[in-house]
Amino acid sequence: MYHSVGEPGPTFGVGRAPFLQHLEWIRSHKTVSGLLELVEQARSKPVADDAVAVTFDDGYLDNYECAIPACVERGIPATIFIAWDALGSPAFRGGLPMMSRDHVRELAALPGITIGSHTLSHPKLSRLDPEVQRRELCDSKAVLEDWLGKPVETFCYPFGDYAPGTVELVRACGYRLAVTTRVGAFRVDRPFEIPRIPVSRFSESILEATLTQGYLLYAKAAGRC
Ligand SMILES: [Zn+2]
Repeated sequence: MYHSVGEPGPTFGVGRAPFLQHLEWIRSHKTVSGLLELVEQARSKPVADDAVAVTFDDGYLDNYECAIPACVERGIPATIFIAWDALGSPAFRGGLPMMSRDHVRELAALPGITIGSHTLSHPKLSRLDPEVQRRELCDSKAVLEDWLGKPVETFCYPFGDYAPGTVELVRACGYRLAVTTRVGAFRVDRPFEIPRIPVSRFSESILEATLTQGYLLYAKAAGRC
């Protein structure tokens, strides 16, 4: 899970040089698949130990300018989760500029690049009434599909936050999977609570160890256990 890629960036971002090193390392050591393809394949056969899917949250302008072209050049599939209302903002989280609606449409046409929804307004869903949650989930899907002219089947919970009933709302809106910010092992029977490994500035240098030795090392490095 990446956010911003560039410098100077916020703590939840990653510098451009380490990001490019990550891509080279991933390409030579792992089997990279699209997120949706990986989850769909997992329904019929075990996930390979070296399987990796790359995702980006929010829709930062630097993803359009640098990170996604770098993925495409290397044949690395990626999923970008877009918060629709944030598009075009000059200063979103960390004061960073966001890509435009046209940028999203351009990226969606690139090989291996998938656009997913990250709600409309990037709220903490657990704090919202079910009907407001439903609008954030379903309306963001509909507006992206209308804009892109193709299905939007993947969802990402803002801040990794959701209420017990949110998962069922995601399913009911027609998504095929949803990702969290929790670190853990993927379970094929929980496609709407898929864990991810956050990659941020502090973990720039330990990506290899994280992906090689598993999420426990990550959690220790992050002071989570
Ligand atoms: Zn987000």
